[in-house]
Amino acid sequence: MWDVVVIGSGIAGCATARELARYRLKVLVLEKGSDVCSGASKGNSAMVHSGFDPEPNTLKARFNVLGNALFDELCSELDVPFSRSGTLVIAASTDEMQELRRLQERGRKNGVETQLLTGGTLREFHTGPRVVGALFAPSGGVVCPYNLVIAMAECAFINGVEFLFETQVLKIGRDGGTWRVTAGGGREFYARAVVNCAGTDSARLNNMVCAEKFTVVPRFGAHIILSRDYIHGVDCTVTQTPKPLPSGGHTKGMGMIPSADGTVILGCDAVDHADPDDTAVPAESIRDIVNYFTQNWEHYPIARFVPVFPREGIIGAYGGLRAHCDRDDFVIGEPDDAPGFFNAAGIESPGLTAGPAIGQYLSTLISKRLGAVPKPDFYPGRHALKPFRGMTDRERAEAIAQNPDYAKIVCRCELVTEAEIRDAIRRPLGARSISGVKMRTRAGMGRCQGGFCGPRVLQILCEEQNLDPLSINQSGPGSNVLQARACALPRGRG
Ligand SMILES: Cc1cc2nc3c(=O)[nH]c(=O)nc-3n(C[C@H](O)[C@H](O)[C@H](O)COP(=O)(O)OP(=O)(O)OC[C@H]3O[C@@H](n4cnc5c(N)ncnc54)[C@H](O)[C@@H]3O)c2cc1C
Repeated sequence: MWDVVVIGSGIAGCATARELARYRLKVLVLEKGSDVCSGASKGNSAMVHSGFDPEPNTLKARFNVLGNALFDELCSELDVPFSRSGTLVIAASTDEMQELRRLQERGRKNGVETQLLTGGTLREFHTGPRVVGALFAPSGGVVCPYNLVIAMAECAFINGVEFLFETQVLKIGRDGGTWRVTAGGGREFYARAVVNCAGTDSARLNNMVCAEKFTVVPRFGAHIILSRDYIHGVDCTVTQTPKPLPSGGHTKGMGMIPSADGTVILGCDAVDHADPDDTAVPAESIRDIVNYFTQNWEHYPIARFVPVFPREGIIGAYGGLRAHCDRDDFVIGEPDDAPGFFNAAGIESPGLTAGPAIGQYLSTLISKRLGAVPKPDFYPGRHALKPFRGMTDRERAEAIAQNPDYAKIVCRCELVTEAEIRDAIRRPLGARSISGVKMRTRAGMGRCQGGFCGPRVLQILCEEQNLDPLSINQSGPGSNVLQARACALPRGRG
């Protein structure tokens, strides 16, 4: 019997699990993917929103602002890079200026400080000549979302929380005063409390146990990535006011985001999907983003250094599915007719920002309901390796002297060493797939997108786990990288 079963290991689930780890509670996280962070939390725009966008008096507004305020301390505890570089929304017409004033007023109601810039103050941001004004929110920031979620999960794990992957929850029901959670393969878990952090599946789970139903639609958003060569002049996130896109939908506006890892993220669009697991980026999305930035490039400060949109700078594309709820707001808390069942449902944007505050809020409710006592030896951090690419020459020499695997570069684009890849596999809740290694080290995220380092990463995964190469997958069952042995290799080589 568990005290708490958390369903889903995105930012909402991992933040809640880490906060629950502060108490003497038996906590289990069930995740249908083969790694933490298998949903929207890994495929988003990486922006820590300041909170001027959500409708005032909504849960989105409340948890956005609360969550934003937690990032400095949280990221320092977890050793996750976080930059509060600010967000600039630019206007290229008088209509767009009106929109900026509307956003500023919303921000005021949400308690978010913003500055409306025109004339000389605007030019300090080096926006293009046709930009007539901008709204600057200094509290906006950027974080690497999967780095943060993995760090939260590691912290929860070393504080006693257990995780089960490839465990999809199919049913939830009551058994007397206990919750019965049924997963694939007929596995059953009993718990005093259940937390629904299941992203695009969160409405289905809620509707199984609560009279108040809602629906969640998977809403896809795509991004493209420019290589590190284009980071000059991209000092803060710059977005334009929301505009309709050829493929439909509404987003917060196309953004140019300086990623925490030094690349540039461009996106994103918004298109409703029928399949809650399909995150393949369609060609139309890439075309929309490329066309948008080709037409609007001159507005962005980067145009000082790179005069036209650099198609040759694109190194990748990715996307994610927002859990868009028909209530147009987050669903958070314990429904009246389901005591012990807690929702963090319909968490679409600004869910990455709100996640840490949602975790704090839910863990307070749950610990009260269960009468849990704090654990005096809770450790709020985790051990993170400094990436080789970020080391000074002296640090590199010291690292190599201590561990010669630091001298073996596996991913040349991102300068990832064999030592870091082995650590990513050995560490708590370590990587089990090519994509798991990629999220933890960035091996395969550079210009060649794993074309050169992929085979060596696969080999190291085999060596560390004593597995056959044919069993290694990209990101979970059914995504095996190698299909068959083409020929027999000499002994010890295959
Ligand atoms: C394109 C895009 C851009 C975005 N940009 C931003 C941004 O810049 N800033 C911001 O603040 N927010 C942004 N968001 C929103 C943010 O990413 C999400 O709100 C947040 O990540 C949701 O976290 P979550 O934990 O609720 O869901 P998820 O991260 O989706 O996690 C849910 C987890 O539950 C698992 N799961 C699902 N069903 C089951 C089941 N039945 N059993 C077991 N496990 C299950 C999934 O595999 C998944 O791992 C964006 C989202 C998208 C898609």
